[in-house]
Amino acid sequence: MNTAALKIEENIKEPVAVNGDQRQVRLKNSTIMLVDDEPVMLEIVQALLEDVGYKHFVPVQDSTTAIDVLQKENPDMLLLDLDMPAVDGFEVLERVRKIDGYEHFPVIILTASEDPDNKLKALELGATDFLSKPVDPSELALRVRNTLTAKAYQDQLAFYDSLTGLPNRKLFLDYLGKSVSQAKRENKSLVLLVIGLDRFQQVNESLGVYLGDQILQIVADRLNSIVRNSDVVGRVDASTVVEDTARIGGDEFSIVVHGVNSVTDATVITDRVLSEIKQPISLDGEDVYLTASIGISVFPEDGIEVGTLLKRAGSAKDFAKKRGRDRYQYYSNEMEAHSRALMKMATDLRTALENDQFELHYQPKVDIRRKRVMGMECLIRWKHPDFGFISPEKFIPVAEEAGLIVAIGDWVMREACHRTSEWHAMGYESLKVSVNVSANQFLEPDFKSKVVACLESSGMNPNKLVLEITESMLMGDVDQLASLLHDIKKLGVSFSLDDFGTGYSSLSYLKKFPIDELKIDRSFLMDVPGNEDDNSIAIAIIAMAHSLGQKVVAEGVEKIEQVKFLNHYKCDVIQGYFFSKPLSKDNFQTYLGSKK
Ligand code: C2E
Ligand code: CA
Ligand code: CA
Repeated sequence: MNTAALKIEENIKEPVAVNGDQRQVRLKNSTIMLVDDEPVMLEIVQALLEDVGYKHFVPVQDSTTAIDVLQKENPDMLLLDLDMPAVDGFEVLERVRKIDGYEHFPVIILTASEDPDNKLKALELGATDFLSKPVDPSELALRVRNTLTAKAYQDQLAFYDSLTGLPNRKLFLDYLGKSVSQAKRENKSLVLLVIGLDRFQQVNESLGVYLGDQILQIVADRLNSIVRNSDVVGRVDASTVVEDTARIGGDEFSIVVHGVNSVTDATVITDRVLSEIKQPISLDGEDVYLTASIGISVFPEDGIEVGTLLKRAGSAKDFAKKRGRDRYQYYSNEMEAHSRALMKMATDLRTALENDQFELHYQPKVDIRRKRVMGMECLIRWKHPDFGFISPEKFIPVAEEAGLIVAIGDWVMREACHRTSEWHAMGYESLKVSVNVSANQFLEPDFKSKVVACLESSGMNPNKLVLEITESMLMGDVDQLASLLHDIKKLGVSFSLDDFGTGYSSLSYLKKFPIDELKIDRSFLMDVPGNEDDNSIAIAIIAMAHSLGQKVVAEGVEKIEQVKFLNHYKCDVIQGYFFSKPLSKDNFQTYLGSKK
């Protein structure tokens, strides 16, 4: 490819919003190649251009060497004489156009000839412009300036991302190649970060492309400022600031960190990126919350080729996403092995439904004041033919990634409704069944009609169905999401907010959604009542939920002390090993019988 791209950093350091003065300074840094058989002409033209501020020239008298010099020196434009012995200007021009990446390279033809046929021929061969000999100084200055401006614009379009102004993948790869070569020469290491925005697709879909674009610009600005203000990001040379950061895909960015002393130096940057991206983004008065997953590869340990480094940082990023997002991951062989295991799991998951390998277990939810089982949460279990039970915490994220969660979720919903309906018929008619719903499933356009279908085919009373959703699913267009929830609620179904406290837990946010029940995450209750801070949090959550008219469920309760504490502070429902582990359907039925 045309490595001329690497030169444009001198012309366009800040591709977005450069003012006229800056642009002039940059143009004057351009390199101009001159080919003319007359040494005097070379001198005159160079002197005239020097007078108006240009500094870098490549004069060539022997036209037979022109093509070699051009490729070696990579100038920004060429001033080419037509009449030359051996190889004339036409021939040089013809050859230039055949070099890969030089199809649109700017060439101004210098000619004494007034013959219109000559001009026509030069145009046919792709001359950019003409100048008559003897050259008029102001015409020369203007034609050169216009040509370079057009070239800068063309480079801008070809090598920079128009949305964020960051270098695009093409320029970045070039730059990375240059950085790798330098690291090789200097025996230094180099760290490559691939940064992927988490669930950006969802954000884009819910907010619309216009706001999605604004978010990408804000993210790019944040990354740029981290890199600019960091002492860790060394530079190939002083003029390469912009190339450290690039947009390499729709929602993917990359940063090269060089000159690091220890690889952990790079972690400083990584932590900054994670925390900067997490800062709320205000758009139209709404705060949008994003996270990122970062993959890291290191030269030379993880590879000595640009392609390998990029690929490995990319798989590390995918791995970080699978491990739960909002984190970084160094590339490693173990990671690779783990990735393969996850791929195998995804393959096996594809056939798990048809092979009847899923089972629902039911964990009782106990109303503490009334001292009775008021319902149960369904928790899916996968009985793998070779590996036995696999925890949903392991396979649900894989199913989400593999696009299988919707089918699995549908099965859970059907099974839960049918089973519960049977228990209702057996006399346990007050039982409410809670079903975990994943984001992808919930945001499917036909989610509501599937709920309706499950309710109808099972004959279950809609008032007995509780859908457990999480805070992260409510990030996005508030009005749209709130109306979706209201719409589903009209069926008689209720909503429970799962894992409360682990997300953003914004009270004002919560008020906008019709949530009936709040589940305090196990992590806040583990040390209750021993830990004063946790006690306060639990008490505050209970009070807050009650003030919003919501019931409070405590999750993961194992000890009698917790039960006493929660009872004292008027928590409504308790779920956890203290009462029972999740039970198979037969065991749950036995459990129900024993409580009658
Ligand atoms: P979750 O919704 O927060 O479910 C509660 C988890 O805590 C369950 O883990 C449950 O077995 C466990 N647990 C309950 N009581 C206690 C306790 O006293 N101590 C401790 N240490 N743990 C307790 P499980 O069954 O492994 O499920 C893990 C997660 O997988 C669930 O977290 C939920 O997010 C997801 N999941 C489970 N079933 C489904 C499903 O059908 N669909 C979807 N989308 N996700 C599901
Ligand atoms: Ca749950
Ligand atoms: Ca939970």
